[in-house]
Amino acid sequence: MSKRIYLSSPTMHGEELEFIHEAFDTNWVAPLGPNVTAFEQEFAAYLQGNVHAAALSAGSGAIHLAMILSGVGRDDIVIGSDLTFAATVNPITYVGAKPVFVDSETQTWNMDPEALKKALDKYPQAKAVICANLYGTPAKLDELSAICKERGIPFIEDAAESLGATLHGKQTGLFGEIGIFSFNGNKIITTSGGGMLVAADEAVTKKATFLATQAREPARHYEHKEIGFNYRMSNVVAGIGRGQLLHLAEHIDAKRRIYMHYKEAFSDIPAITMNPYAPDSEPNFWLSCITIDPACDVKPLDIMEAFDKENIESRPIWKPMHLQPVYAANDFIQAKSGESVSERIFNTGLCLPSDIKNTPEDMEQIIGIVRSFFS
Ligand SMILES: *Cc1c(COP(=O)(O)O)cnc(C)c1O
Repeated sequence: MSKRIYLSSPTMHGEELEFIHEAFDTNWVAPLGPNVTAFEQEFAAYLQGNVHAAALSAGSGAIHLAMILSGVGRDDIVIGSDLTFAATVNPITYVGAKPVFVDSETQTWNMDPEALKKALDKYPQAKAVICANLYGTPAKLDELSAICKERGIPFIEDAAESLGATLHGKQTGLFGEIGIFSFNGNKIITTSGGGMLVAADEAVTKKATFLATQAREPARHYEHKEIGFNYRMSNVVAGIGRGQLLHLAEHIDAKRRIYMHYKEAFSDIPAITMNPYAPDSEPNFWLSCITIDPACDVKPLDIMEAFDKENIESRPIWKPMHLQPVYAANDFIQAKSGESVSERIFNTGLCLPSDIKNTPEDMEQIIGIVRSFFS
């Protein structure tokens, strides 16, 4: 079997182990500890947004806490992205609330501001809006957050895939009342598993930390006035995060080169379009994706199957939430009726291998396979 070519696998550098060693040497093999505090400070400093950060055990846990911190409860409505990983919207249901899904626009593949307006007209009682920045591409965050602000509804930004991406120079994760990030295994930096919740208001991150450590009141005995969770990041895991953060810029550069390489390589094939982004934005290029003109005979599955035969990992576009059996009863709002944008992207697209350790030979092989379908 030929060498496996990955979609996006962890890339470690060495400093990660040094921070882990430090944790072991000082026996801080526990939740909390100096690496956690330092990772939070270094992460907030990286974002340059005058924000505070709370390190957590997963991005999903961060979204769960974001729902609670936004006052979402039983039978409430929360508006969420349709074209995303289920982890963006599943936490809405953890608090007993109901997601309503909003279609994508074609310029960034993210939540359509026009459709969001329609959703909020239909559900003025909505308690929060959560929007993902798909594959590392910033959504129309200014417009979306302005719509929410106008109506007094908290805007939560799921920046799990977009750490380091910017919109007119401002980092993703900073556009809402709360931003969340993930350090899962295949994200642009990883701690093996972990998440971060950021907010400009320090009371919010303090409350997140409180809820993430079983909501223990400051008393000598174990006093509880609220239900808490075990969502805190461990000091060992935070050490990996500190080491990875040192190499984030380098990871983004490598991902950008991969995207540009594909874009150039397919520029003479009119049926292929790369995942788009707005001109005033700088994605982190986490995953390079293509869509194929539906009028063309080549289907994404054909290419994915050809990759499988060569031990090359690829992935379909996230299946829209409104098409998921588990959300069959939930409402879905589009800007215009007809085929949804999210469904069209799902049906015509695929994610190409975007691992920063791919060699020039790997890239040549991947590109050759794609091109072979169009010659
Ligand atoms: C990965 C991801 C999450 C969840 O993060 P975990 O750390 O895996 O819990 C949430 N939203 C999106 C869009 C993601 O890609």
